Formats: sequence, structure tokens, C-alpha cells
Amino acid sequence: MSVRLILVGPPGAGKGTQADLLCESLGIPPISTGAIFRSHASSGDELGKMAESFTSRGELVPDSVTNKMVAARLAQPDAAGGFLLDGYPRNLPQVAALDAILEDAGTHVDAVLSLIADDDEVVQRLLGRAASEGRVDDTEDVIRHRIELYHGQTEPLLAVYRERGILVEVPGMGTIEEVAANVQSELKAFLSK
Ligand code: AMP
Repeated sequence: MSVRLILVGPPGAGKGTQADLLCESLGIPPISTGAIFRSHASSGDELGKMAESFTSRGELVPDSVTNKMVAARLAQPDAAGGFLLDGYPRNLPQVAALDAILEDAGTHVDAVLSLIADDDEVVQRLLGRAASEGRVDDTEDVIRHRIELYHGQTEPLLAVYRERGILVEVPGMGTIEEVAANVQSELKAFLSK
């Protein structure tokens, strides 16, 4: 299915897992800026080192770097038939940058899925993940800072997409399977409108 999606949600809401499940069923590539930064960091290249100096503190990587990286990724052939952006855009300037990238390509976003989750629950999930995956940005202070950034910088973009009539809110609490079912049904209902 050729569909262009954005998945938004607080850190720890299970965005990555839900992105992968939905992309598999729709046959589109998941594009996670966080995962791209982590892969550069583990290969130890310049972009990775630079990004890690921000990600390890729970700060956003500068927009100039992130926007350029996303533009290059969206120009890859596998994104021509649709994609799901996970973790991008994360602030209003990135919304404008994405608009410009897609306008240049003569396309647009079809729907923005917003996972609704509760702060205390996401902190607990992230602390659990820290123990199992050992991500450098999963310490309690950094987690709290990432959630603050989500509320301050990322949540305002929901109003922009709501205004455009493409915001789809999805209950994000529950098991992976329950949330995946919510994502599928809300998206289906929206796209068939
Ligand atoms: P995530 O895997 O989406 O939780 O992202 C992990 C980290 O990567 C974030 O806490 C940021 O430091 C960085 N990052 C991911 N996406 C973006 C973005 N769109 N803009 C700036 N920094 C980002």
C-alpha cells in the first residue's frame, strides 16, 4: 500500500515496535531517525560521534543535521512507494523542513499517528528497557529530560497536523498486540473516510 505516515509518541510508548509491525503489514519501510543515529554511533563515524554527544544527554540532534539526513533517506528508492517516519519530525522547524522535502518530491503525508501514553508508565517501561538493552540514553535523569522535551517541543506539532485534518490519535497503553490492533483499526478507519 502506498501510504506516507508519521508516528509520534513519547519516548517509551513503543514507537519503534509499533512502527515495525505496521510497516511489515503495509509493506513500507520504517524510517527511524533515532535508529539511524544509533547505527552511525555504533560504527563510530563522525556523524555518529556528533549525534551521540546529543543523544546521550537526551537532547535533540541539531535540526540542520537531522533534516539533511532525513532528506537523503527519503530520496532512497525504497521510500518512493511510501514510508513511515518514526521519531521525525520532533519539533516545529522539522515539520517545516519535512513539508519542504515532500513538496519538492511532489508528495505529502497522508496521516500522523499519535500514540497516547501516560508519563509514569513510559518512565517505567524505559527503565526496564535500560536494563535489557543498555541504551546510553535510558538513565532516569535522561529519560525525564526526554519526556520534558517531548511535551515542550514535540507535542505542539500535533496541533499543526490536527489543523490539517490528518491527525489520528491512538490509545498507546496495553500490550504490544493491543496497541498494534488499535493502530491498525484507527488508521484503517481514517484512510477509508
Ligand atoms: P528515539 O529512538 O526516537 O527515541 O531517538 C533517540 C534519540 O535520537 C533522541 O533522544 C534524540 O537525541 C535523537 N533523535 C531522534 N530523532 C530525532 C529528531 N527528529 N531530531 C533530533 N534528534 C533526534
